[in-house]
Amino acid sequence: MTHTRRSFLASSAALLTGCDLLSTSRKGNWIDAHVHVWTPDVEKYPLARGYAVSDMQPPSFTPEQLFAHCRPEGVQRVVLIQMSYYQTDNRYMLDVMRSHPGVFSGVAIVDENAPDVAATMRSLVKQGVRGFRITAGKAKNLSGWLGSPGMGTLWKTAAELKVSVCPLINPDTLPLLDKMCEWYPDTSVVIDHFARLGMAGAAKPEETQNLLRLARHAKTHVKASAFYALGAKKAPYLDMGPLVRQVRDAFGPQRVMWASDCPFQVEHGHNYHNSIALIRDRLDFLSAEDKAWMLRGTADKVFFSAAAI
Ligand SMILES: [Zn+2]
Repeated sequence: MTHTRRSFLASSAALLTGCDLLSTSRKGNWIDAHVHVWTPDVEKYPLARGYAVSDMQPPSFTPEQLFAHCRPEGVQRVVLIQMSYYQTDNRYMLDVMRSHPGVFSGVAIVDENAPDVAATMRSLVKQGVRGFRITAGKAKNLSGWLGSPGMGTLWKTAAELKVSVCPLINPDTLPLLDKMCEWYPDTSVVIDHFARLGMAGAAKPEETQNLLRLARHAKTHVKASAFYALGAKKAPYLDMGPLVRQVRDAFGPQRVMWASDCPFQVEHGHNYHNSIALIRDRLDFLSAEDKAWMLRGTADKVFFSAAAI
């Protein structure tokens, strides 16, 4: 098809009704950059020590349950984030990835203090993993946690393998993260859920600045995600617009990726449509190009490209 023919089709599309346009955008081949899956089969996939079956809420969230939410919205590919219930046992996530070729990427959890952590990371990357989740958890000494020798190995190895470190952190950790990005400039970093700005009440301006400041490191990225948990925590989540705009402006759309954080986005009266619709349909300052990056391009580049193995 020639370009002329394509642009003719594009302008014809623009004449369609709003409803038709919406159905077109729902065939977007989008990527959801953050979803957790788990299975009630705890015989085959036992929970980590300290977790009980009653902690699994909802009791089950399998790929089939996810597809019922994401496919009608045009989401074809998904980045799985290892669920805390399994800690460093990444088998369920890997099995799901293996049984749906081309659909999933994965972010695993490893014990950064294990002596063989680099070899474990390499083996996981060979199986399709493209990121490693780090969480402060119950760490009382944040600088001791993030600046530990194990973390150094994890960050260095991630850079060598050309995969990402994915911090789930609160805003108080942002200044430390800034230091780590300075020490490991070759490591790609993907920050979950705007560093949870606005999770516990309104975000403080200096916290927002600490997030935006990370844009000075070329390999930092931000997930625009978990709308159910941030700000007013109420659909259509328009109060998140100013933060989305600030992050887009600071990082550029090439370093921002939308994600739902399912299944939590589809619980307690929230739904999948309202999450993707905020970015796809409801913020008029986002250009078509911004949306193409935030809903597909950035996650494609970071989580679906080849690693160095
Ligand atoms: Zn999550």
